Amino acid sequence: MISKCEVCGDTFKNTYEMGKISQWQPKVCGGACFATLLLTQKVSYSKWNKWLMQNKDKYYPLVEADASKRSSYERCLARWLVAEEIPYVFEPWVFKPDTGVYYLPDFYIMRVPCFLETKGVWESGAFPTAKAFGEFTPIPYYVLTLPFLKHIKAQPKKEDKLSHV
Ligand SMILES: [Zn+2]
Repeated sequence: MISKCEVCGDTFKNTYEMGKISQWQPKVCGGACFATLLLTQKVSYSKWNKWLMQNKDKYYPLVEADASKRSSYERCLARWLVAEEIPYVFEPWVFKPDTGVYYLPDFYIMRVPCFLETKGVWESGAFPTAKAFGEFTPIPYYVLTLPFLKHIKAQPKKEDKLSHV
């Protein structure tokens, strides 16, 4: 399908859109525009801080995320963020939306601010969890699939693919 890039406005061939999660998929023509999206402040920090203060019972910090347990997709996205000089925090908080299902978004991007979730396989239970979090969080939430990572040229390395099996 043809989509319009939400950053530069150009039309592009959208090879990654997935119906069930399309609402949380960024519409960008490629890696450069996705980097711009993640470096452009969209949300008022004071509103976000206020939300964090008012919802203290709905999230708690992880003391230390275990980087060794990252999936190949998470490592691939982390490398891409570093290469693009986009500051991030890996798994800073565990959230408990009103549905009661705990959820740990993969990356927190400070500049927008926003959350990024990436995974290769979308099992049926993952959709409602993503949907619940997307509706719960007051800041942008982007779900990045493998076709999207390919679209922005952040492809898992061969050894990552093997280690993921
Ligand atoms: Zn663009």
